[in-house]
Amino acid sequence: MIKMLKIYNTLSRKKEAFKPIKKGEAGMYACGPTAYWYQHIGNLRTYIFSDILRRTLEYNGFKVKQVMNVTDVGHLTSDADEGEDKIEKAALKEGKSAKQIVDYYLGIFREDLAKLNISEPGIWCKASEHIKEQIELVKILEKKGFAYKTSDGIYFDTSKFRDYTKFARLKKEGLEAGKRISLKEKKNITDFALWKFSEEPGKRQQEWPSPFGGIGFPGWHIECSAMSMKYLGEHFDIHTGGIDHIPVHHTNEIAQSEAATGKKFVNYWLHGAFLVFKGEKISKSTGGLFTIAELQEQGFLPLAYRYLALTSHYRNPLEFSLEGLEGAQNSYKRLKNIIAELHDDGKTNKAYLKKFESAINNDLDMPKALSVLWGLLRDEKAEGKIATIKEMDRIFGLDLLKKEEISVPEEVKKLAEEREKARTEKNWGLADEIRKKIIDKGYAIDDTPEGTKIKKQ
Ligand code: AMP
Ligand code: ZN
Repeated sequence: MIKMLKIYNTLSRKKEAFKPIKKGEAGMYACGPTAYWYQHIGNLRTYIFSDILRRTLEYNGFKVKQVMNVTDVGHLTSDADEGEDKIEKAALKEGKSAKQIVDYYLGIFREDLAKLNISEPGIWCKASEHIKEQIELVKILEKKGFAYKTSDGIYFDTSKFRDYTKFARLKKEGLEAGKRISLKEKKNITDFALWKFSEEPGKRQQEWPSPFGGIGFPGWHIECSAMSMKYLGEHFDIHTGGIDHIPVHHTNEIAQSEAATGKKFVNYWLHGAFLVFKGEKISKSTGGLFTIAELQEQGFLPLAYRYLALTSHYRNPLEFSLEGLEGAQNSYKRLKNIIAELHDDGKTNKAYLKKFESAINNDLDMPKALSVLWGLLRDEKAEGKIATIKEMDRIFGLDLLKKEEISVPEEVKKLAEEREKARTEKNWGLADEIRKKIIDKGYAIDDTPEGTKIKKQ
């Protein structure tokens, strides 16, 4: 049964009921990684958000076709279409081929998706494998008068696309003022490269012949228009990404797609807010650029990070700290331990499930959905807990019913050994003190005839 799902559409800046183009189906495109380095936990927050969206659509009975791109060429170090290609730069630095760089970082990214229970998209597409489609699109834009040539490439003329400033609510005056700064051969400050000519043909690892009068490579934005339209059609349902994409990347995607086809590109645009560190966007200078592997090295479970991400609404910034993650991990472990003790009575609790569904269908309100879950667990009289949690976990993706061997942290193991030593020395006071420390860390000690066992509390 298809229920009423409301999602916040950046196009209208309003929550809207989701109405698919094709009954019972949803086409969804997520801007994927630029595969020149690890995806940090900030990037991964955005993919957890699009995963929740996809799961919610599926929960509501939609058949979802999800496409994600991999940027493996054309993303330059400066957003003003200048600077080095991020992939080429990494290849040079690491002494590898561009393909090796992309394969390596994409491999790690896919491992991270699996660790975080993020379902992979049905279709992955790489920019370098869709050069023909991108050239075709640029040719259409040239033919329709939306493109012009400079000495370093083919550019989109944003002044020709009437609604250019609409999506991001850009201020026209600000853009006019911007003209005074480094326009070079561009006609308008917001014009962007559709195709760039290689500065020295033969030097780059990735370049292709083009009908535009030069060997080169595609601009960053054109890949998402060309590939999304190839796999989902010229007009499709949902497009997602991080909030930083609104003013440039997505604005440009809309301009070039709608200019080329003459029709509406996407019905619903959804954007995830940032993971911030000390109040700022995480970056090399502010810190917080952790990867999932680094968090694991520090004793964190990847799913504790997923839990943390679900404790805040996707449209609110989430402040990251290791202490905050530790708190999330403790709650997550507590949740699993409570669930592990439940017995299946074969029933489903419709009342709690209904509350849960209204939370997720209200623009993916995961904090609310989590509080419904905790409410169910705390409600001593509630029936049907196991089956209800199973349903909820279709969206949470937290492996709530999966029983696993607990891994005891090194420090707890060490404390247990110290306690054993104190006991053999008959130092009962010290042994008791250590036991308390172990309990404080969330573990219990069980002295059995086979020896001492450590259990999660
Ligand atoms: P990139 O690999 O830089 O193209 O980024 C991949 C995705 O992560 C994009 O959708 C970005 O909008 C998103 N992103 C980048 N930084 C953050 C952050 N700190 N928090 C959440 N999402 C982010
Ligand atoms: Zn994109």
